[in-house]
Amino acid sequence: MQHPASIPTLHTRYLGVDDVARILRTLGLPRCLGQLVDELATDFRRWPAFDACARIASHSHDGVIELMPISDGRFYSFKYVNGHPGNHRHHLPTVMAFGVLAEVSTGVPLLLSELTLTTALRTAATSVLAARALARPDSRVMAVIGNGAQSDFQCLAFHHLLGIEEVRLFDLDPTATAKLTRNLAEHTAGALKATPCASIAEAVRGADIVTTLTADKTCATIVTPDMLRPGMHINAVGGDCPGKTELAAGVLRAARVFVEYEPQTRVEGDIQQMSADFPVTELWCVLSGQAPGRLLEGDITVFDSVGFALEDFTALRFMRDCADALGILQTLSLVPAPANPKDLIGLLSSSVSATAEQPKHAA
Ligand code: NAD
Repeated sequence: MQHPASIPTLHTRYLGVDDVARILRTLGLPRCLGQLVDELATDFRRWPAFDACARIASHSHDGVIELMPISDGRFYSFKYVNGHPGNHRHHLPTVMAFGVLAEVSTGVPLLLSELTLTTALRTAATSVLAARALARPDSRVMAVIGNGAQSDFQCLAFHHLLGIEEVRLFDLDPTATAKLTRNLAEHTAGALKATPCASIAEAVRGADIVTTLTADKTCATIVTPDMLRPGMHINAVGGDCPGKTELAAGVLRAARVFVEYEPQTRVEGDIQQMSADFPVTELWCVLSGQAPGRLLEGDITVFDSVGFALEDFTALRFMRDCADALGILQTLSLVPAPANPKDLIGLLSSSVSATAEQPKHAA
């Protein structure tokens, strides 16, 4: 039997889960988180260069699948991501993702990458970026409600980059808290004190920052007004879908609220409970000096995080650069490169040369 010759293709870079894990292990989480915070800050400050749009969501009974596109005119990226709070019943993560970075001038896909680990990293880095502008600089104690997949990254990011010395932990599932406690002991050699608590109220008591990371397809009230104290910063990460919130409306009313991209957060964030004229400030305005962050020592601030496409754009470029530095250069034959670009069907001919010259677009 005669085998068809292999078809010439563009070289699209590929980063799998193994590659991203190798990057994080080799460079270390503190360094990766720190560099990513800096790159996110740079991209947030050039916000007007991006063609922002709210993500496209496909909702079902069990969860949501979303596409998150964005471009700065030079590069384009999108992320595919899901959110299925019941996935643990199938031994699957709640959140899974992958994404693409492409060249705007030609549309060539430069990179296809895993984004599940990367999402946890970029979400933690974005939370730190917001907290640097909004939390009290002397914050040392953080409550973490919801101790699942994202929580380890959040705790480590706040410890290494913001000086958090103690995390007070609560999850409905005690095995999740035990997992987080174990991982933090391993990753910080005991430098970050982890205190399991019996209730949300107990965890929040005495905390300077409260991070909510629960996954439930419901309008939950994880943080209620009676738990607030002057000067608190709330990093609300888990309320990120219509009908899925974590903060009581009274908490939002008592606070100054900051968001990533207002049109998306009005639909998906905790502020979905509030009227359309409820005042919020986009984070990029604070980072670029156009709006104030924390004004008074006693302000209660909320970062109503839902996850925005710009963060994945930055993270894809960051991972590509890390892969370059470590010489991880795998490619995929994702897009054909016919010798005559107008002769696509010619690729089906058995005479196509396996040695056809590769086009210059090897990312
Ligand atoms: P996960 O399923 O691994 O962990 C969620 C944890 O929350 C579970 O351990 C669960 O037992 C716990 N939980 C659920 N309801 C609770 C309650 N009422 N009180 C205390 N604990 C409760 O999920 P994950 O990957 O860690 O994600 C956490 C949340 O963050 C999800 O809602 C996800 O959609 C969201 N998320 C947001 C962003 C963002 O950018 N804002 C990014 C990634 C994930």
